Amino acid sequence: MGQEYVPQGREEARGRLWPAHRSMQTRNPAESAVRPQDDPWEMALRQFARAADRLSLKRGIREYLARPNREFTVCFPVSMDDGSVRMFTGYRVLHNGVLGPAKGGLRYSAEVRVSEVRALAMWMTWKCALNHLPFGGAKGGVTCDPAVLSAGELERLTRRYATEISLVIGPHQDIPAPDVGTNAQIMAWFMDTCSMHRGYSVPTVVTGKPVVIGGSAGRLEATGRGVMIATREAARFRGLPFAGARVVVQGSGNVGGVAARLLHAAGCKIVGLSDVHDGIYAPGGFDPAAALRHARDTGGLAGFPGTDRVSNAELLELPCEVLVPAAIEGQITVSNADRVQAQLIVEGANGPTSPEADEILERRGVLVVPDILANAGGVIVSYFEWVQDLQAYFWSEEEINANLERLMVRSFEANWHFAAEQGVTLRTGALIFAVKRVADALMTRGIYP
Ligand code: NAD
Repeated sequence: MGQEYVPQGREEARGRLWPAHRSMQTRNPAESAVRPQDDPWEMALRQFARAADRLSLKRGIREYLARPNREFTVCFPVSMDDGSVRMFTGYRVLHNGVLGPAKGGLRYSAEVRVSEVRALAMWMTWKCALNHLPFGGAKGGVTCDPAVLSAGELERLTRRYATEISLVIGPHQDIPAPDVGTNAQIMAWFMDTCSMHRGYSVPTVVTGKPVVIGGSAGRLEATGRGVMIATREAARFRGLPFAGARVVVQGSGNVGGVAARLLHAAGCKIVGLSDVHDGIYAPGGFDPAAALRHARDTGGLAGFPGTDRVSNAELLELPCEVLVPAAIEGQITVSNADRVQAQLIVEGANGPTSPEADEILERRGVLVVPDILANAGGVIVSYFEWVQDLQAYFWSEEEINANLERLMVRSFEANWHFAAEQGVTLRTGALIFAVKRVADALMTRGIYP
């Protein structure tokens, strides 16, 4: 969808918030059937098991961490523009809150299901722990296709969903943020709804809000900026050239679109980019900002001058040095890992690589920078936003970006050295570190009562 926050513009004038007016649900059910081993929750559990084995975690602690602390499912009505009433299902899963209030995005997609939300919540626990943030992990979502809803329908859906899950949400409890299919405007409606219930403004209830209502400078670009930093650091540590490296980015939304722009600005050559419909490829590279403008104007990337159209599956196998999967989970699996040509994979998305694919890539010497490290820029700047809102004192974009850079580089270096010491991949090293930190905290706190 490539959505940026569009406060007042053509998109709203046309009554919708999303630049691409085509449904995101383009895959037929047979194509989107998930093999059991590629189910996100199964993937998350197998990754966790690998770290737990290495740590020889006690059985009780292991069982505790392998389960979400809380799963909240809500079914709620929304009045549609045509006068009908439609029922929607939403979730908010809190995996673990031992390190602090839970943090995690809200996803609006036709493919949202509870096992996906559960996996994303667990990954948030590890991501916050790995990056030394005082947060636990959570995630939420509504099963809906935002591209076919009008702005009014999206607003009513968001306000009703916020009301339904308000029981488990709060600045010191569980703090949502944008994810696939949601954006700053949706966070604004969410924050306004919670504020109306309280009778006063509560900006700390969500992050990723527009700056005008307490959002942070730099948050919109934070995840993509973090992906750029992780790519640069990985190239540096691995001894690969960064300037001039050919990069393919899957997904051109908040993460992929910004990462492509910033990698291009940093001297990389963007040779491939995609959205939910299809991708574009030009061996000599292209300007991703111009491609994104084309997508906004025409409803898709396809047809951007000087590029060839490729499918999302073909895109992942294009000749390049760096592949940035930045769309959804389960993209690199046993069925294509052998054909990935990149030497470096930087996971902008959460869970894009299955554990079996990880093994194939490791055997082939492909370096994978795992999601909980590579895409942590978003939650890092969400943390800055929460801190700024709590203090009612705001930092400049330069300060935000400098602190983001510092934390990303620190996490990358620590993870690189830790994984080398342990003799494991960056993913396994990151998980061992994060799981240990959460396990240490919960053993220190003790089991209540
Ligand atoms: P987004 O909705 O802004 O963009 C998603 C992109 O992926 C769009 O280009 C969309 O067209 C494409 N896409 C959607 N479904 C697809 C499919 N089935 N196949 C191929 N492409 C598809 O979402 P985003 O915020 O950029 O999130 C992308 C990924 O990054 C997700 O895995 C999300 O969990 C992760 N992430 C997001 C943030 C954040 O701050 N937004 C932070 C960390 C991780």
